[in-house]
Amino acid sequence: MSKYNLVVGFETHVELKTKTKIFCSCANEFGGEPNTNCCPICLGEPGTLPQLNKEVVKYAIKAGLSLNCKIPQEMSMDRKHYFYPDLGKSYQTTQSSRPICLEGYLTLDSGKKIRINHIHIEEDASKLVHDSKNIYIDNNRGSTPLIEIVTEPDISSVEEAREYIEKLQAILRHIDVSDCKMQEGSMRCDVNISVHKEGEPLGTRTEIKNMNSISFIEKAISYEYDRHVDLIENGQKDQIIQETRRYDEKTDSTESMREKEDAQDYRYFPDPNFFVLKIEPSFVENLRKMLPKLPSEIKAELIEDGIDEKAADLLTKYKNVSDFYLEAKKYGDNKIIATYILGEIFRSMETEEEKENFDIKITAEDLGKLSLLQKENKITAHIAYSILPKMLKEGRPHTAYLTKEDLVSVDNTEVDKLCKEAVDAMPQAVKDYKAGKEKAIKAVVGYVMRATKGKANPSYTEQKILELIQ
Ligand SMILES: [Zn+2]
Repeated sequence: MSKYNLVVGFETHVELKTKTKIFCSCANEFGGEPNTNCCPICLGEPGTLPQLNKEVVKYAIKAGLSLNCKIPQEMSMDRKHYFYPDLGKSYQTTQSSRPICLEGYLTLDSGKKIRINHIHIEEDASKLVHDSKNIYIDNNRGSTPLIEIVTEPDISSVEEAREYIEKLQAILRHIDVSDCKMQEGSMRCDVNISVHKEGEPLGTRTEIKNMNSISFIEKAISYEYDRHVDLIENGQKDQIIQETRRYDEKTDSTESMREKEDAQDYRYFPDPNFFVLKIEPSFVENLRKMLPKLPSEIKAELIEDGIDEKAADLLTKYKNVSDFYLEAKKYGDNKIIATYILGEIFRSMETEEEKENFDIKITAEDLGKLSLLQKENKITAHIAYSILPKMLKEGRPHTAYLTKEDLVSVDNTEVDKLCKEAVDAMPQAVKDYKAGKEKAIKAVVGYVMRATKGKANPSYTEQKILELIQ
């Protein structure tokens, strides 16, 4: 255990999936032919008047409510000045003095609360595209709506950092304000890191910008922690300066980009294009009523339903998976459905993105009905698992794959007889089991499964064999 505590805070930019951009009627879409989806307003040309998209306000409030924030009755827009080619007007329209949400928190599984300082809304900058010779500007992304979620420095391990981001993604996907695809840049994190000894004040923090993968975030935090500790231990504490750094995944290290700007460098001031916006409490309450169940609430219900915690976590991690599971449950057995999803179906998906999209050819109703057949012992688990891959591949309903033979479950008196036969035929396995080798019983069950071509119910069979050898 190191004598230095790690202190981490997050500033997370999340692209909102409203239909139009934040101040104009251009479509809010990812990609497209460069510079085809922009207008004088989102280019910030002089003489244009931006108008704040009401949907952006709604989405930001929904995010705030689901993160336990207070919604003040007034908010305003500010200008943040900087000169960079991705922002033609040389200022970003954002919120500084009166952000839309204040003082929330996100609860980790341990019960620890990661406090949210505030959430503000702002426009995204345009995108710079580099090739070997030139830098191009694509304005399609300019003025797409963002929220920035700023935590207090409450995170104290790499594991907590991962959990915070995964939970944040799950929440924002469930309330349908963003798809939070880090690989496409619709969720990007700036991570603040410092170290200090227990009981001493916080150390100087460095910031790693624009992280777009959870595993890079973990590696960057570990690297930066070691770097700070080494400098302190070597008497070079003054070399830890407040600066912005970049993580390089090829070398798995961070390098300095620039000294960190202070707020005063940006010359924030109220944007005269916008009035102070009053937010009626009734408007907020209506949005609160419309919020769907959050992942933590669904997870608690799943556990109540007899799903174990780890499975419940995975089923609620992705909104599409959780929606599918809840729908399938209406038609069948929840535990069996969970094993189908987390087993065969997840095995058919290689990437996180595929799980997020959960674009499968089976309907929730059909999967539910299949689980019911298994639950009622009309087919065995073995049969269900042998047809699932075909259903996933070809998309026909389960009934298309079940033969008459599959559906006839083996008569239990037949199974009882075979159990007796198995016990007599395998005295060594029985002896091993009685001597404490619990796995030996599987061999005896296997005898019956082979004799019935997999159609006996394995748990019934095991129970029967145990009765016989008591
Ligand atoms: Zn526009």
